[in-house]
Amino acid sequence: MTRFEAALRLGISLQMASRHGLASKLTEAEVAELDSNPPPWLAQSRANKSASARPVWVELTCDVCGHTEPARPKKWWPVFTYLSCDYHDIGDVPEPAAGLYREEIDGIGSQFVGIIDKKP
Ligand SMILES: [Zn+2]
Repeated sequence: MTRFEAALRLGISLQMASRHGLASKLTEAEVAELDSNPPPWLAQSRANKSASARPVWVELTCDVCGHTEPARPKKWWPVFTYLSCDYHDIGDVPEPAAGLYREEIDGIGSQFVGIIDKKP
C-alpha cells in the first residue's frame, strides 16, 4: 500500500508518516507490525490524540433550509444560536428573544453565517 494508505490505517497524518521515515510503499505486514508494535513516536502521537478528545469534524446545518456541510471546528467558534447559509435573508431565522442582541459571524465553513443571540 502507499504511504498515504498506511498513514490512514495508522491514524496519523501523511506529513508525520514521511517525517518518521515511512517508505513510500509498504507491505500489509509492515503496516500491521507498526500498528501492533508502534514505535515511540507513533505511540506518543496516539496518546496525544486520545487525550485531546475534541471532535475533529462537526456537521454544520442551516436552520433555514437544512443544508448540511461537514467542517473542522475552529477553536474560536462560539456556540451558535443559529446557522444560516450566507445567501438567506437574515429575516429567515427567528428574531432574537426579548432582551438579547444579535451578533453575526461570516465565514463559518464554506458558506455559513453563524448567528449568536447574547445577553447585553
Ligand atoms: Zn440554507
